[in-house]
Amino acid sequence: LGGSISRALQQMSNATIIDEKVLNDCLNDITRALLQSDVQFKLVREMQANIKSIVNLDDLAAGHNKRRIIQQAVFNELCKILDPGKPSFTPKKGKPSVVMFVGLQGSGKTTTCTKYAYYHQKKGWKPALVCADTFRAGAFDQLKQNATKAKIPFYGSYMESDPVKIAVEGVERFKNENCDLIIVDTSGRHKQEAALFEEMRQVSEATKPDLVIFVMDSSIGQAAFDQAQAFKQSVAVGAVIVTKMDGHAKGGGALSAVAATKSPVIFIGTGEHMDEFEVFDVKPFVSRLLGMGDWSGFMDKIHEVVPMDQQPELLQKLSEGNFTLRIMYEQFQNILKMGPIGQVFSMLPGFSAELMPKGQLDSSNPKLMNESRMMRIARGSGRPVREVMEMLEEYKRLAKIWSKMKGLKIPKKGEMSAL
Ligand code: GDP
Ligand code: MG
Repeated sequence: LGGSISRALQQMSNATIIDEKVLNDCLNDITRALLQSDVQFKLVREMQANIKSIVNLDDLAAGHNKRRIIQQAVFNELCKILDPGKPSFTPKKGKPSVVMFVGLQGSGKTTTCTKYAYYHQKKGWKPALVCADTFRAGAFDQLKQNATKAKIPFYGSYMESDPVKIAVEGVERFKNENCDLIIVDTSGRHKQEAALFEEMRQVSEATKPDLVIFVMDSSIGQAAFDQAQAFKQSVAVGAVIVTKMDGHAKGGGALSAVAATKSPVIFIGTGEHMDEFEVFDVKPFVSRLLGMGDWSGFMDKIHEVVPMDQQPELLQKLSEGNFTLRIMYEQFQNILKMGPIGQVFSMLPGFSAELMPKGQLDSSNPKLMNESRMMRIARGSGRPVREVMEMLEEYKRLAKIWSKMKGLKIPKKGEMSAL
């Protein structure tokens, strides 16, 4: 999705005159990309209509940056879809809250329950986990294992087959133990069957959760809307968590889930481990969806790996388009420490991960320097000529990438410039 949308916007920006036709072509491309990325047809149509009514080309005075206005409109519309208008119920530390997790089997409920508990525990809460999944063999073992690892109290049974009974007992016990976040994990079953929804309704009625969280796998595709709606019709879903954002899916289905449940996304899951869990933030999410990069994520990475005293200088040089061999030398270790290089670059505005060359460097084109000079450098440094060639190729490649940062406003930490 990111790739196609950035391409569409790029094509538009290449056009000298932005007229009705260019705008329509661009919107059609964006529409197609959003549909492919699991955003519901109805939502896309509405968005397209909204943008057309906002961006009235004739009304725009000459000199206005039309591309920017259209980009901004697309960005805002996507943000709007993700904002249901009211925040979800937020549990209060020290005050007992019951939070029930629902979602299809395999969506990541049990994993996410533990992440959610662990996240709050680290902030000083007293969470507890209740396993009300009596449908799947091994469900209790899985929860028990997770909970034990995170040192979180848990409740469940190998014998009892009534999920409502277990849920009620667990919630009661942990209320008595003064837990302030009682998390009820439920069964998913493999498809949307009437029995599952009836069970969810009963568990919810019996435990009276303060919040019901719908857990959605980011890769479920166009099914997102119907699935979310089906749960919403049986229980009062009040928030969404999108899992497996570390995979290929960009999470376009989140837009459908928000629309169907009229609830906000509150967290995303970014891996199988307990701490691979992030507070959901609309703007960086949409930026990434559009291939515009995630400035705040990138800045966090910079602050993590570049020594404090070097940061302002590095950012200043990069924004001036001054990427020299010396900078590469100085920053190479830092840049490498930033993790898979494509992942870091995909956070930057203007290029999505798809634009990054994959695989090994092609070192068969050493036209940058003449041969005798390279031989001299190689001899002087005691390295093979091949390595000198590779180093220069790498420089060329990075310089090309960093040159795109020229003129960009470098935001300060915590400041997010989406466009
Ligand atoms: P449940 O059936 O809804 O309870 O789903 P589980 O919690 O058992 O998760 C199903 C599978 O998805 C497990 O293998 C999890 O490790 C995996 N999983 C859950 N969340 C994530 C995530 O954010 N990223 C990745 N990569 N895997 C996840
Ligand atoms: Mg489970």
